[in-house]
Amino acid sequence: MPEFRQNLATKEWVIVAWERAKRPHDFQKDSELPKELPPLREDCPFCPGNESKTPPAVFSISARNVSDWSVRVVPNKFAALNPNLSTKREQRGKFLRADGFGIAEVIIETPLHNLTIATMDAEQVQKILRAYKQRYLEVAQSKNINLITIFRNFGVRAGTSLEHPHSQLIATPIIPPHVRDPFQQAMYYYDSQGSCVYCDMVKEELEQKERIVLESKHFVAACPFASRTPFETRIWPKRHTPAYGQISEAEVADLAYVLKTVLAKIRIGLNAPHYNYVIRSAPIGDEDTRYLHWYMVIIPKITTPAGFEIGTGIYINVVPPEQAAKYLREVEVK
Ligand SMILES: [Zn+2]
Ligand SMILES: [Zn+2]
Repeated sequence: MPEFRQNLATKEWVIVAWERAKRPHDFQKDSELPKELPPLREDCPFCPGNESKTPPAVFSISARNVSDWSVRVVPNKFAALNPNLSTKREQRGKFLRADGFGIAEVIIETPLHNLTIATMDAEQVQKILRAYKQRYLEVAQSKNINLITIFRNFGVRAGTSLEHPHSQLIATPIIPPHVRDPFQQAMYYYDSQGSCVYCDMVKEELEQKERIVLESKHFVAACPFASRTPFETRIWPKRHTPAYGQISEAEVADLAYVLKTVLAKIRIGLNAPHYNYVIRSAPIGDEDTRYLHWYMVIIPKITTPAGFEIGTGIYINVVPPEQAAKYLREVEVK
């Protein structure tokens, strides 16, 4: 029997297609194994020796060997937004416009061309998460920035052809309805229930257990009740924290382990699918609210939204999250 499920936080609906359900193993068959990459490529702008091909670093973490850096953050040379523009909104007749003001940075995650978070050591992943925090805190100081989004695109199906391990930060003056609407729902939930909807969701997932992929001291990773796509996995901090910039050093260490492990399970279990992950965090200025709670969402790109999804926003998920979580739980990571 197919089933409608509602996302507790956003109130959006999904369809879990139990009858059309694919078994998790089917996705492993469908995908091809990634090709072997060299540790260094002379024509790669992010590889050591090519630092002059990117704008100068705005932040870096130094290293003892391999090269003199282990994480480097640079302004995005091909950014969609520009920090030297005005933020003035203008009416053009009935239509609203503004210059494309914003900050776009690339976090080069390691000097080694052939690694990815799933295959890095945990210490390197910690450095990346610390770089995210440092850049978040710095960019949050910029006047007129209201929202900071940190994300990683892995593979062509996820929107990047650049092989070198990297993630991105884009800061905008605009908080779009896509982001604001769920926050409003979270506020209404707080007003009626007196608690944070994300804290409650984590508690409920822990109680129901069957969709948990991994639980650590500070984080919970699960394929949520109303997952929109197969193997969608969320990582929530257990501590009520609205913004990523508030992550503690102990949480960085713990998240590095959880993120690396979950991505390794996806890589091993599903033959290295392309994926996006996004850190959703409160707008700048709302870091103290009792109803917002930052989290990470990982979306393996193994299905394509089709007409019904585009038309309604209701996603048809062909792998029930209970089965996805069970499958990922059982994938062994060395
Ligand atoms: Zn490279
Ligand atoms: Zn919370």
